[in-house]
Amino acid sequence: MRPLVPSLSRRAARATIVTATLVTATLVATACTVSRDEEVALGADEAKQVEAQLPLLGDPDVERYVSSLGRAIAERTSRADLDWHFRVVNTDVVNAFALPGGYIFVNRGVLERADRMDELAGVLGHEIAHVVLRHSVQQMQKAQKTNVGITLVCTLTHICNNAAAQVAINVGGSLAFAKFGRRAEAQADSAGFANVVRAGIDPSGMQSFFEKLLDEEAKHGPQSRVGAWFQDHPGTRDRVDAIGAMLAAQGAQGRQGLVADDEGFRVMKRRLQELPPPPSPPDTVVQ
Ligand SMILES: [Zn+2]
Repeated sequence: MRPLVPSLSRRAARATIVTATLVTATLVATACTVSRDEEVALGADEAKQVEAQLPLLGDPDVERYVSSLGRAIAERTSRADLDWHFRVVNTDVVNAFALPGGYIFVNRGVLERADRMDELAGVLGHEIAHVVLRHSVQQMQKAQKTNVGITLVCTLTHICNNAAAQVAINVGGSLAFAKFGRRAEAQADSAGFANVVRAGIDPSGMQSFFEKLLDEEAKHGPQSRVGAWFQDHPGTRDRVDAIGAMLAAQGAQGRQGLVADDEGFRVMKRRLQELPPPPSPPDTVVQ
């Protein structure tokens, strides 16, 4: 398997492991009372590792658009007080993930497959919902209850140990706190739906984007560029149906005045096409 990016130097990697393990161990030990500041500290620590290990797109125009759309949605949620961060990972693998405290990563593959602003907004709204609902923190609490906190620490260390090689496999998919079960995914869909509507955006894009991924998977199989999405967002078929039910309940009347596309999105898409293609992802997708 070919890593996406060169690994960190051994010493730097070891230093990161020690810091990450200490921070995580402390937080896991006190998971029952994870404060906002602790959650943000954990997210910032993980985000730093992700940013060191994954190839970021680093294009100011594209990132500015994604960031402004993400913020427009996040700032109308109950966690508007968080300092939200939105970054684009330079890979055509389709995935997005949220870290505690308001750190959202969207892969370039999502931007490339989105045909309208509301489709990208649907993905952002969903990831923002994971943070608003504190799903990562709940996972930490559950882990402590079942006394597997140490496993969680090992999982993180494992990620650090293998640096690019491990993390690049699913481009974010292996992150301990960024993987949620079916129930959390369904919750993030309905909260994400509401987040998008609150920002004045048409939620239909959520449905059409997920449909597109289902079509691509049906055509090209689980090893395709959309495979990681399905591994990290279980139950997509049922979720598309549930989103359909939410749209039906809302009715066309309820969507009047909501925006589905904007000029900024089209400018961002044109800019994306001008950029060099992303580095090749690993040959095999291993969970
Ligand atoms: Zn999710």
